[in-house]
Amino acid sequence: MTFEVRHWIGGERVGSAETFTDVSPIDEQPIAEVARGGAAEVDLAVAAAARAFPAWARTSREERARLLHAVADGVEKRIEELAQLETSDNGALIRSHRRGVMPRVAHNFRFFADRLLRLGHEDFETRGHRNHVSWDPAGVCALITPWNAPLMLATWKIAPALAAGDTVVLKPAEWTPLTASLLADIMVEAGVPDGVFNVVQGYGAEVGGPLTAHPDVRRISFTGSVPTAKTIAAAAAPNLTPLSLELGGKSPLLIFADADLDLAVDLAVEQYDNAGQVCLAATRLLVESPIADAFTERLLARVAEIRQGDPREESTDIGPQIHRRHVERVDGFVRRAKEAGARALIGGGPNEDLGGLYYRPTLFAGAAEGSEILTEEVFGPVLTLQTFDSEEQAVAMANGTRYGLAATLATGDPERAERVSARLVSGTTWVNCFFVRDLRAPFGGSRQSGMGREGGDWSFDFYCDLKNTVTAPWAEQWEK
Ligand code: NAD
Repeated sequence: MTFEVRHWIGGERVGSAETFTDVSPIDEQPIAEVARGGAAEVDLAVAAAARAFPAWARTSREERARLLHAVADGVEKRIEELAQLETSDNGALIRSHRRGVMPRVAHNFRFFADRLLRLGHEDFETRGHRNHVSWDPAGVCALITPWNAPLMLATWKIAPALAAGDTVVLKPAEWTPLTASLLADIMVEAGVPDGVFNVVQGYGAEVGGPLTAHPDVRRISFTGSVPTAKTIAAAAAPNLTPLSLELGGKSPLLIFADADLDLAVDLAVEQYDNAGQVCLAATRLLVESPIADAFTERLLARVAEIRQGDPREESTDIGPQIHRRHVERVDGFVRRAKEAGARALIGGGPNEDLGGLYYRPTLFAGAAEGSEILTEEVFGPVLTLQTFDSEEQAVAMANGTRYGLAATLATGDPERAERVSARLVSGTTWVNCFFVRDLRAPFGGSRQSGMGREGGDWSFDFYCDLKNTVTAPWAEQWEK
């Protein structure tokens, strides 16, 4: 049995003349027939969001916060359903959806609801004139999201946009349309007014194209790849629509000889999580020469123990790749790396035992400096190992790509940690840890890993029109 998935526009389920088939990465079986939107559905959704905007923007902060908490309650009630749906749709582990991702989805709503109530800036005086800073709702926001963490990444945008008083048109990735559709039901149950939240399903160019070029869209927030970001930036340029871009990476894990080796190996193994389909993954292991052999030996033993298989099993460590086209892309990187002289110390191809979309955790050594496998994002379970002989060289290697999303370092020396972190180009740096995330922190990438920062009040800065109102001193006659 397959689902039928339609758009969600102005509080109604809306179909399209054509549909496309959504396939589960677990077994490549169809799971849904999905409405294939285009410019007409985008126009409808933007119009619905624009109609809903004035009333939504006028609601009090308390009312919006109350509704966002109600949405979080709805998410919490449906954690199991959302976890199962997301796992069938994108192949990520049920155990992390149950215990990490879906609770975090609820937290996204609660965090921005609470933050909204505290949002403010103290008034200040200029020659007796009062300056008052306000965060005015901006209007209709276009939110475009990828498939690797569909609902988590969508709600990381939806929650602050709605909290800010904006209305939303969400375009989920075509490979993972399901949880966004279920979120519409949760919004209705929570009492979010019609037109405040809209979803248009479909392919990138067909829906994302007209959405990002739409003159009535006031903000575009995009998470995805660098090439798509460039297309979006070009589409947004004629209207000068403000953009927030959360893009890819080629992040380093620097392991110094003074590091706790067990911890360093743990950190390296973590980079295979979600079968390598994590934007923040530290896919370049940079290891100080004296410990390289010991580190590699231990790492290979641990990688061999990774349990790959059905993501619906609690005992599975990593599941499949998202789609056959993605497997081919990952395999293309691996084949070209081998042709260019890199050696696969483990893995290096599809998992023939499992078949389907399962790709073996792979570790390359001996890749030539500047080669594709060291510079381009693979977005699969493929890591590279390089060695360095000095802190200076480590920093140069770490910063040696066009990306700057994240960096992780393992060292036993606090002073070195500070010195090196200060020199790394990255939106987030982790020292002796990985993936510790707090919504109060700014999140984003440097260089081609992104534009702007979200999280904390930075999200409100993006989703609002900040305004300063300067009021002259009131003369006595007005004060009476
Ligand atoms: P993608 O760029 O192919 O697609 C992302 C979204 O953009 C999808 O919804 C897609 O349909 C849409 N899209 C495609 N063409 C479009 C167009 N012309 N106009 C408007 N929208 C269009 O990326 P992906 O393969 O879905 O996701 C993987 C990428 O996302 C990786 O590069 C990864 O690093 C990145 N990512 C970044 C973060 C972050 O927070 N920095 C988080 C997760 C993923």
